[in-house]
Amino acid sequence: MFHSSYIEISKSALQHNIAFLKEEIGPQVKLSSVVKGNAYGHGIEHFAPLAQECGVDHFSVFSADEAERLLQSLKKPATIMVMGYLDQPEVEWAIAHGIEFFVFEPGRLTAATEAAGKLGKPARIHLEMETGMNRTGFTLAQLEKLLPLLHQARGKVELAGACTHYAGAESLQNHERVLDQLSKYKQQLQYLESAGYHPAQCHTACSAAMVSYPETRMDLVRIGIMQYGFWPSPETYRHYLGLHRDRKDPLRRLITWKSSIMSFKNVPQGEFVGYGTSFQAPRDMQLAIVPVGYAWGYSRNLSNQGQVLIRGVRAAVVGIVNMNVMMVDVTDIPGVQPEDEVVLLGTQGEESITVASFGELSTQLNYELLTRLPINIPRYIVE
Ligand SMILES: *Cc1c(COP(=O)(O)O)cnc(C)c1O
Repeated sequence: MFHSSYIEISKSALQHNIAFLKEEIGPQVKLSSVVKGNAYGHGIEHFAPLAQECGVDHFSVFSADEAERLLQSLKKPATIMVMGYLDQPEVEWAIAHGIEFFVFEPGRLTAATEAAGKLGKPARIHLEMETGMNRTGFTLAQLEKLLPLLHQARGKVELAGACTHYAGAESLQNHERVLDQLSKYKQQLQYLESAGYHPAQCHTACSAAMVSYPETRMDLVRIGIMQYGFWPSPETYRHYLGLHRDRKDPLRRLITWKSSIMSFKNVPQGEFVGYGTSFQAPRDMQLAIVPVGYAWGYSRNLSNQGQVLIRGVRAAVVGIVNMNVMMVDVTDIPGVQPEDEVVLLGTQGEESITVASFGELSTQLNYELLTRLPINIPRYIVE
């Protein structure tokens, strides 16, 4: 198979998650499937057609290169929305292909207006509001200055949406800030409407906001992490469970990342394992060498922290994760064989490795580990 590890993507898990998300938001709210970061590591080309089969017809990406990959892989027409980077030629390319995009700079509005005029095709834009994230978007004062440009753009630019993004809806710590952002958004929207501009779709919610702040759902929700079966944070999961006491985790993970044992090493008590002295064998040990390392996105932070599954049993990563290999402790796993399957992420038998179980329950870990899965690990769709 010419590769030391591979990724399986479960179709039934995605069907299940999409059905859950649609039930959660109801028929009035549109679901936009966020597939930036190579579909959170799942692979745009594998994930997007599968999502379409599950009834998704709206996708959000960060940039034109991702939009282009989406266009190439989609089997049916769908709305594509670029939330981030586009250079000048890409603005024109986007309009030509009917791709919608966020506008958060006067320059991009001008570029869109010019390109739309040239192409004889309207640009479909989403005005992004600065509400407190302090990243991209127009403040109320900047919106006021934008009005003349919007006026000039009439007929060439369609106001497809007005949007904003919350700075940490996955943590209760940011509660006041999120509410403040919501109220600023409403003010800015009201201002736009009083000036005669009526965005077709109002949207502000990511996964965490969708769960914890239902009033942020509006016309459309931009859902990334949850469609892949992961919660934005343990807090968001607890919030959900608090509202649905009878229910277990409604999400299923799509991804299983697998490798196999490459070699074994017996290490006497007292010896150090791998580079440096971070791990000293507390007893005589048997280690399995697994041909995956940080070059394939298995973070070096998981040195002496991570766990994998072999024969349905957890095996701890010992020593530093190397570029291409890591060592795991199989001393207590009877009958291990060369080429035994190693699950790095996902389920084997009764056990599961979730990203969160990698010790550190940091919010960003799910997102980061997934998106760091390199594009060149083969991906396969399984039922
Ligand atoms: C990534 C992103 C989302 C999706 O976030 P999740 O937490 O993965 O649901 C939504 N909106 C914007 C602007 C984003 O950048």
